[in-house]
Amino acid sequence: MTTTSVRARFLGDGRIDFERATLGPVANGQVRVRVDVCALCGSDKRLLRSGSPVVPGHEIAGTVVDVGADVTVPVGTRGIVYIPVFCGTCRRCAAGRTNQCLHLRELIGWQRDGGFAEHVDVPARCLLPVPDDVPLDTAVLGLDTVGTAAHALRLWQRTQPDGVDRALVIGAGPLGLGVVAVAGAFGVGEVDAFDPHEGRLATAVDLGARAAGDLAAENQYDLVVEVSGAAAARETAQRVVAPGGAVIALGESDEPYTMPATPRWRRTDCYTVRSFYFPTSEVEANWDLLRDHGAALRDRLTVPVTLAELPDAFARFVAGDYFKPCIVSEDAP
Ligand SMILES: [Zn+2]
Ligand SMILES: [Zn+2]
Repeated sequence: MTTTSVRARFLGDGRIDFERATLGPVANGQVRVRVDVCALCGSDKRLLRSGSPVVPGHEIAGTVVDVGADVTVPVGTRGIVYIPVFCGTCRRCAAGRTNQCLHLRELIGWQRDGGFAEHVDVPARCLLPVPDDVPLDTAVLGLDTVGTAAHALRLWQRTQPDGVDRALVIGAGPLGLGVVAVAGAFGVGEVDAFDPHEGRLATAVDLGARAAGDLAAENQYDLVVEVSGAAAARETAQRVVAPGGAVIALGESDEPYTMPATPRWRRTDCYTVRSFYFPTSEVEANWDLLRDHGAALRDRLTVPVTLAELPDAFARFVAGDYFKPCIVSEDAP
């Protein structure tokens, strides 16, 4: 079956164009997904600037409309799309640690076509079925927002299995807010938040965080989650973490992550935890987190827009007016 599908092209310098493509029969082992929801991610801003040879968009929820040979996923399955195209056979994948795949080559929306389109073909193993009681506009937050946040906290928990009384989250964008929302489920007592943008900070407070006070003094927190990627924030994290504590380094920016060997750094005994996305083995547990916290996050973060409104949505997103615009298909259930 062929499918006619409108999709976005990022031309660079902030320009977005649309094209109508004819998708041929679905390849072996793949499924064709009607994109019901595709969220914009801060990292997409890089592609907006640079342009992209593939269709961007990597926070995708949708419905299977066609399948290739050797696929047992039924047409009509609702799912979210797991972006790392993992091999499924290496020792990491075999242990369920698909985000640690030793043969990871492609990310959906980065090296192969993603979700700023009416349809996208993905490997069947990258489609994670969504339970019936979780709506797709909430399920999509199980990817970069809650999936990534929860995995980072699970990795960190191995360093401090008894939890901590207080943590600091630096950067209250969608991922930082995901951390704020689910931290309690991982043994964090109270969360302070810092963000120079008042609206973002207010949203963190609305989700249960306290606005952080003065961050000039050393040794204030046993856990610091750095989500902004800014050099100054990384410096702050290193300063306010208490010896014996941990810094979770989640913020991604084009700036190099440097650890200047200052006297303070040399005499601080602590963990630095860096995580990537989440393994598929955590998805079941993440549905429970979304049942508890998904609606609160969705209502505060997401703004539904249509695919045709993508250029305007990006402009507002870049300007900081929107937290997380989501392209919602008019055909979405
Ligand atoms: Zn993302
Ligand atoms: Zn693998």
